[in-house]
Parts: sequence; structure tokens; C-alpha cells
Amino acid sequence: MTSLPSISRIQQAFPPQVRLIAVTKTIAPEIIRLAYEAGIRDFAENRLQEALPKLDALRDLTDITWHFIGHLQANKARKVIEHFPWIHSVDNLPLLQRLERVAQELQHHPQVCLQIKLLPDPDKFGWSPEGLWSNLSAIEACQAVQIRGLMTILPLGLTPSQQQATFASLRDLAAQLSNQSRLQLTELSMGMSGDYPQAIAAGATMVRLGRVLFGERPPTSGQETGSQA
Ligand SMILES: *Cc1c(COP(=O)(O)O)cnc(C)c1O
Repeated sequence: MTSLPSISRIQQAFPPQVRLIAVTKTIAPEIIRLAYEAGIRDFAENRLQEALPKLDALRDLTDITWHFIGHLQANKARKVIEHFPWIHSVDNLPLLQRLERVAQELQHHPQVCLQIKLLPDPDKFGWSPEGLWSNLSAIEACQAVQIRGLMTILPLGLTPSQQQATFASLRDLAAQLSNQSRLQLTELSMGMSGDYPQAIAAGATMVRLGRVLFGERPPTSGQETGSQA
């Protein structure tokens, strides 16, 4: 394979104000290079152990921005901050506070999104909206970590109009929190291969695409979006 035709097709139809993040879990560095050559500069991984050798293999591509999107255990906070300028999957307060301490120590300022679970889904991590409101003052106290927005992953099985309505409720939650706290939640990381047009219609600022860019992944690896880092 010398090019990825699906990438230019999707890029052409993509609104320029939405950041297209290529999700490269299970994808080899040589293929990631093709996506880079096609113009993609934002890439995401969900498992630290898989990601680190790939980041190393691609370190000559110095203008890539790497995003971490997988469930993260607190003991891996330091490595993730060292390698990923963006972390989309901050899904509980102790993790956020750990990231804050490590960021202060390293004098890094990671950009983070808080992961929200809008609908009950046993396979997914994230704050419920109520849980987020009740943690608000502790969240606002973070200074090294730059809290930029909200992220969500929808459960399977929704109709397109339910998907769009659920994404719109994330947008509304971000607006309410921004009005009623010191947080400025301007980023909405939402939309994957199966639902990204609905996410864009609801105001997504960052869309995370894997399969529509690179094809189906092998069934055993990385499908489960909440997998351990
Ligand atoms: C795998 C993954 C994606 C991309 O999913 P596709 O269906 O391949 O587009 C997006 N977000 C997260 C958190 C993921 O783990």
C-alpha cells in the first residue's frame, strides 16, 4: 500500500474547523506515515504500552501532535504526560489530581478533556454529569493541567438522531459548566467512525477516527474503547 485513498476522501468532506484525529491503535508505523503524508498531523493511541514504541519509530515526524484516548491507570500518569500533549480520557477525580501533581512536578501543561458517560454503559468509563457537578470545585482547583473540554463515547445501538441528541447534550453540558465555573470547556471531543457526522452536526471540535481511515481492525485487538492503557 502506498497511499490511503479513504483519508483524502474524508478530509475533503471535513469541515475545516473540526480537528481530525487519526486513531492508530493496532496500526503499524509505516501506515501511520502514509496518513502523515496525506496531511494528518493529529494521531491518537489508547494503550501506553503499544504506543511508546510507535511514537519512538515516528519521532522524526516532529510536527505530529499525539493524543491519548484510552482508560488510564494513575500509575501511568507520568509516562503519558511525558509523551502525550493531549489526554482526552480523564475519567475520574483521583486520576485528574494525579495528573495535576505530576504536571506540576514536570512543569508540563497537558491539555485534557474530561470523559463523560452520558448514558448508562457498563463497558465505558467516565463521569456522569451529576458526578462532574459534584466534583466541580476540585476540578477547578487544577492549574498545571489545562482542562480544555469534554469527551464522550456513545454506547452502541443508538439511531442517528439519538446519537446527535446525545452529542448535543454534551455540548450543552460543556456550555453550562463554562457559564457556572471557572472552566472554559471549548473543546468537544466526540464522534468516531460510526457516528461522526452526527457529532459534527452537534458541534464537535475534535473527531477521533480509526476504521473509516484505516479499515477494520482485527477483532480481538483494541475494539473495546474503554480498554486499559
Ligand atoms: C478506537 C477508538 C476510536 C476510533 O474508533 P473507530 O470506530 O475506529 O473510528 C475513537 N475513540 C476512542 C476512545 C477509541 O478507543
